[in-house]
Amino acid sequence: MIFLDYNYDSLLERAFSQLPKLSEEVSDFKIPNADSIVQGNKTIIRNFSQIADVARRDIKEFARYISKEFAAPINIEEGRLIISKRVNNEEINEKIKKYFNTYVICKECHKPDTRFDSIERGFVTIVCEACGARYTIKYY
Ligand SMILES: [Zn+2]
Repeated sequence: MIFLDYNYDSLLERAFSQLPKLSEEVSDFKIPNADSIVQGNKTIIRNFSQIADVARRDIKEFARYISKEFAAPINIEEGRLIISKRVNNEEINEKIKKYFNTYVICKECHKPDTRFDSIERGFVTIVCEACGARYTIKYY
């Protein structure tokens, strides 16, 4: 009986030690991927508003970035972004990643809790609500 209990406890201990630590999971912020399709000469990002929400950026401002990066006119329709150009999913994800790494993820603490404070003369001041960092970088 005692022998069985001992085994059970050590098994339980081993099971717990193999679980990932909670703190690591929380800080592991994932840049969202685009759900896109090409229709004729246009590309539609179907989850664009969700991506803007994760970035906590204004959808129009975020769309402007995508438009500049692809050098193509864009339209927002019911939370979807329509790019007047054929681009593949991989290319879009590269741009989204670049946006998050430059304009969303804090360069000091690497958390995504930032906001645009002011935009002036081609520069944007970013404020981090997690660590208080404040820095100015080139705006798109
Ligand atoms: Zn920060």
